[in-house]
Amino acid sequence: MKPEKKDIRALTKEQLRDFFVSQGDKAFRGNQVYEWLWSKSAHSFEEMTNISKETRQMLEDNFVINHIKVDTMQRSNDGTIKNAVTLHDGLTVESVLIPTFSRTTACVSSQVGCSLDCKFCATARLKRMRNLNPDEIYDQVVAIDQESRLYNQMPLSNIVFMGMGEPLMNYNNVLKAIEKITSPEGLGMSPKRITVSTSGIPKMIKKLADDEVKFNLALSLHSAIDEVRTQIMPFNETFPLSELKESLVYWYEKTKKKVTYEYLIWKGINDRKEDIDALVHFCKLIPCKVNIIEYNPIDDGEFQQAAGEVTEAYQKALERNHITVTVRRSRGKDIDAACGQLANKSSQ
Ligand code: SAH
Repeated sequence: MKPEKKDIRALTKEQLRDFFVSQGDKAFRGNQVYEWLWSKSAHSFEEMTNISKETRQMLEDNFVINHIKVDTMQRSNDGTIKNAVTLHDGLTVESVLIPTFSRTTACVSSQVGCSLDCKFCATARLKRMRNLNPDEIYDQVVAIDQESRLYNQMPLSNIVFMGMGEPLMNYNNVLKAIEKITSPEGLGMSPKRITVSTSGIPKMIKKLADDEVKFNLALSLHSAIDEVRTQIMPFNETFPLSELKESLVYWYEKTKKKVTYEYLIWKGINDRKEDIDALVHFCKLIPCKVNIIEYNPIDDGEFQQAAGEVTEAYQKALERNHITVTVRRSRGKDIDAACGQLANKSSQ
C-alpha cells in the first residue's frame, strides 16, 4: 500500500524550506510554495505558476492540499451569508459573514460540534466530532473574505470565534490559526479586530494571559449567580464563578484589556432584580462591557426571550453604574445563521 500523502499545509515555513533542501533544491523554493499556500490560498499545485512543472509534480507525488470546500452558501435578506463547509474527512462546520454599516465580520467555528453542553445552544445538541485544524479555521476566514469582496465590495474587517465549538478547548489550533491570520504572510489582519469568545474555562483564560495574546476576549456569562448558571451551562459546576472571576482578574492584570460579557435574558430564568444586581456586581471586578444578545429560539420553548422591559431594566442598571452596555439585534435568523443556531441543518 502506498503511504498516505501528508497535508503540505501542516508544515511550517521552516519545514517546507528544509524539505526543498532535502530534495536538492533551494530553500527559497519553500518560501514561494508557502506564499502560494497561504497568501494566495492555492487549492492545487497546478496553480503555482512560478514553480517548474517537474517540481509541481514532485509536490503532487508527496503531498495533498487539504482545503475546505464551501458546500452550500445561503444569503439572508439582511445580507448575512452562511457557509456550510465540508472538511477533508467529510464532516461539516458552518461559518457566517455578517455585514453591517461600518464593518464586515466573519463568525468562524473552532470545533465540529462542541465540547460543552449549554442548554440553549443548537450546536450543543450535535455530537462533538473533533477539533478543527489551524488550516481549517484559516480557510473559513479566507472563504468569507472572498465572499465579502464579491458581494459587499469590502474586505473582511473583523473576526469573531463565535461559531460552532468552544475555542479554548481547541487552544493550540485556534492560536496557530490566529497567528496565520495576523501574519503578513497570511492575511495580515490586526489582532485588535479578532475576538475569541469562550464559555469560560478559567485555566485557559489564564493561559491566554500568560501567552500575552493581542486579540480580544469575550465571555458568555448569561448569569452571575452560580445556581442559575449551572442550570443553563452545566459545566459551570466544574468551573464555578469564583474560579472564573479569579481568571478574569489575572487576565486583566496581565493584558490590561477589557473583557466583553455576552448576556442573554430569558423569562423565568435570569429576569429577576437579583439577577440584574448580580451582573452589576460581577461587572465591577475588572473593566468590561456588556453585550446583551437577543435569544434565538432553537426549539419548542423551554427558553424564551424575556420581555423588553427586562432588557431595559438591565440596561439602565448597568448604565447607572457606568458600565458600557449594548443591546444587539440578531442577524441572519431566516437562514439559521444567528448565534446559537449553527447546527448543520443545511446538510441534514
Ligand atoms: N463556545 C463559545 C463560542 C460559541 S457560542 C462561547 O460560548 O462563547 C457564541 C455565542 O452565542 C455565545 O455567547 C453563546 O452564549 C451565544 N448563543 C448560544 N446559543 C444562543 C441562542 N440560541 N441565541 C442567542 N445566542 C446564543
